[in-house]
Amino acid sequence: MEKGAISRDDILKTLQEYDDLGAESFLSLYGFKPARKFLILHEGKEYESKAVAGVAHKYSHGRTLKWDEFSGGVGHAVDWLKREGFQIGVPRSPKWARDELILACDVVARNGWRGVSSADPRIGELSDLLQLLGAYPPEQRSAEYRNRNGAALKTHNIASFHPDYQGKPTNGGQLDREVLQDFLERPAEMAQAAELIRAGLRSGELQPAPLNEDEDQDDDVGAPEGRVLYRRHRTRERNKGLRKKKIASVLKQGGALSCEACGFDFGKFYGERGDGYIECHHVVPLHEAGEGTTRLADLALICSNCHRMIHRSAPWPTPAELRLVVLDRAGMQEEGLPRQRPVARTADK
Ligand SMILES: [Zn+2]
Ligand SMILES: [Zn+2]
Repeated sequence: MEKGAISRDDILKTLQEYDDLGAESFLSLYGFKPARKFLILHEGKEYESKAVAGVAHKYSHGRTLKWDEFSGGVGHAVDWLKREGFQIGVPRSPKWARDELILACDVVARNGWRGVSSADPRIGELSDLLQLLGAYPPEQRSAEYRNRNGAALKTHNIASFHPDYQGKPTNGGQLDREVLQDFLERPAEMAQAAELIRAGLRSGELQPAPLNEDEDQDDDVGAPEGRVLYRRHRTRERNKGLRKKKIASVLKQGGALSCEACGFDFGKFYGERGDGYIECHHVVPLHEAGEGTTRLADLALICSNCHRMIHRSAPWPTPAELRLVVLDRAGMQEEGLPRQRPVARTADK
């Protein structure tokens, strides 16, 4: 099937359709995922380039181009749109990431669930932290990126979703509501998470965490405490030296390298290829794991499947809790589960 360039009229027709349906319905109708880069900036509004080019193709050539049919990726779509005189740019105010909202929501919570004005020093501090956090890479930040006005506005958006709010509704997103909900349900934990993020950013221990689009879409992970704390959790449990020490200490005590949740033993199942393999899960919750060293006692031996299942959605079960789920599913009593025998390090009699 031929792919041809698209006309300005058809692009305008598509933008109209986009407006009528709203971004979310438009994108899901045509099977495009939301993107944060390469937006068409038209009459004060923003539209996703690839989706618009793909749908405009339907008007010009009778067939919608799917997201994976642009041979040159998004650049291909951008070329077509630019040729017809459209301006492509970065969003004026990219979507707020969960980590950013945690920092903002904490300011609102500490202000009695009221928004804070841009002149307030707490907003200056919030704006500075948002720059340090760097939820978006520098090339995607405009001059106004997370400035005091934007930060103050966000605190008012969040406050307007509080159940006791009496004022006029404001523009906020779904994620604003979710983070507010997390703060209302688990105030101490979320406040602690905010404090850890602030401290980590100031000390430089937590690195900036630009959203990676692929990772964002694929990461099947639930961490209400945000991305930077989750990344630190993963870094700690992937630490090779620590993993080695943990494995050595388990073996020394006569234990087996089997999953603490389901009992899976890589060596027994895969033979030589699996010998000595097991993952470590750091059992200290994200909002508690401050600076400092990871203790071996804080690491649990866990198989890759169970590890994924633990991280999949919040709240994360402990290995023991997941074990109960596994046992329950298998319809067995704890005693009835075939347990991995400890590896005998001394010769059998
Ligand atoms: Zn397992
Ligand atoms: Zn883990």
